[in-house]
Amino acid sequence: MENECIFCRIVAGEVPSDVVYQDKDCLAFRDIAPQAPTHLLIIPKGHIASLAELSEGQQELAGRLIIIAKNLAEKEGLAAKGYRLVVNCGYEGGQVVPHLHLHLIGGRKLGAKLG
Ligand code: 5GP
Ligand code: ZN
Repeated sequence: MENECIFCRIVAGEVPSDVVYQDKDCLAFRDIAPQAPTHLLIIPKGHIASLAELSEGQQELAGRLIIIAKNLAEKEGLAAKGYRLVVNCGYEGGQVVPHLHLHLIGGRKLGAKLG
């Protein structure tokens, strides 16, 4: 738990969030500033600063985050029309919150340009 990390504080229940899924290792909640009708964030409960910090030994966790995203896309009714899964990494990647997170975005036609 990193005291200064907003997502660690969400995991700890110190900051309220609209949780849509959780298990022992992972948490998913609605983004506070949604970019589309559905915008979820899927995170590991443990603090990992970014994708760049993910180690070979964390393959299972990485896979788990993706499967959770897929399951939530189905649950949110996005699977038929499609959706986008995004990980911003570091400054030039547009990462603002330094705790690894996957963005699950859908519910409207998204632009082809990624940046
Ligand atoms: P990044 O740019 O780091 O990939 O995305 C961070 C995301 O976290 C942004 O989409 C932002 O709206 C979201 N976010 C930042 N602070 C909070 C918060 O306190 N609660 C929730 N639910 N989302 C947050
Ligand atoms: Zn954190």
